[in-house]
Amino acid sequence: MICLGIESTAHTFGIGIIRFEYNPHNNHITPTTIQILANCKASFTSKKAGMIPSQVADHHVDVCDTIIMQALQKANLKLKDIDLISYSASPGIGHTLRIGAMVARSLALKLKMHKLNVPVAPVNHCIAHLEIGRLLTKAKDPILLYVSGANTQVISYEAGKYRIIGETLDIGIGNFLDTLARELNLGFPGGPKIQELAKNGKKLIELPYSIKGMDMNFGGLLTYLKQLINQPGFFDEYTIEDLCFSVQETVFALMTEVAERALAHCDKNELLLGGGVACNTRLQEMCAIMCKERGAACYILPNEYNVDNGAMIAWLGILEHSAGNYITLRTNAIKNAKKIAIDPYLRTDEVEIKYR
Ligand code: AMP
Ligand code: MG
Repeated sequence: MICLGIESTAHTFGIGIIRFEYNPHNNHITPTTIQILANCKASFTSKKAGMIPSQVADHHVDVCDTIIMQALQKANLKLKDIDLISYSASPGIGHTLRIGAMVARSLALKLKMHKLNVPVAPVNHCIAHLEIGRLLTKAKDPILLYVSGANTQVISYEAGKYRIIGETLDIGIGNFLDTLARELNLGFPGGPKIQELAKNGKKLIELPYSIKGMDMNFGGLLTYLKQLINQPGFFDEYTIEDLCFSVQETVFALMTEVAERALAHCDKNELLLGGGVACNTRLQEMCAIMCKERGAACYILPNEYNVDNGAMIAWLGILEHSAGNYITLRTNAIKNAKKIAIDPYLRTDEVEIKYR
């Protein structure tokens, strides 16, 4: 079978295509047959502003046809070769999620016109980050440190659900870095720019370190930093490199601390990193040291699978489909197509996992 996955939760519109062998009689996916054929994307960027939802949605509308064609060409397939469609239905920005759902709906209806009944699987984006990690690494039952633009969660599988062991109480770590970068006139996305500057930081500025039980927050630190950089004379004493270095050391230390406690509490010995901020080499280094010291394995994906991508949505679609979680247009196509909808606020721990 061939699955086409659509990602559109935030800044990225992505299409992933995966081929796999599937036995519908016992719902078995043959692991050795799984092949990622394409993983194409286009991401919204901005020199001055951050993400304005309506602008990002316009971006996705502009690029969606091109990215679909690119992915099909890369996979050397035609649209009618697709047997299963999946899309990010939750969580994310309503404006942009809706574009992905509309693309899924349009493709399914188009295929239906060619008398092809292609099932459509809605999937949860956060869980997709974890499942692509289990597919591409040797991790079997990892704690996921999921650090992206909008989300910062430490996730563990327990009794049929992915439980959130710790999380941000306000903004996601990526949004924190992006907002700080905007204050410093570095443009969007800011995380990679902060990483580059941090490499040349020399002085460590002591900053507030805020952990509440297993949860974190970054809003207070952001306000503190805004005041700090606007203080007269601050940049006479410190460079922007010192600031970026100190920020990274502080926020990554507290995320690593929560991840370590999650490993201990849940009695697990594998840590997986996911989300755009997991591209950060300093965070990777801190997590690897922490894991080594406690005898755990630390799994880090290629950046292509850390950032939002269509391949992870295709893979979770395949898993959800094998558990019977899909919408079919077999009968009353127009009415059923309306079920291809979105759920912007659905949390990771609200999804029942039936395929594990
Ligand atoms: P996602 O929402 O998972 O696609 O992640 C997007 C976020 O990742 C944005 O906030 C980026 O600033 C951040 N990001 C990407 N690369 C890096 C990096 N090398 N270091 C820190 N943050 C990064
Ligand atoms: Mg993400």
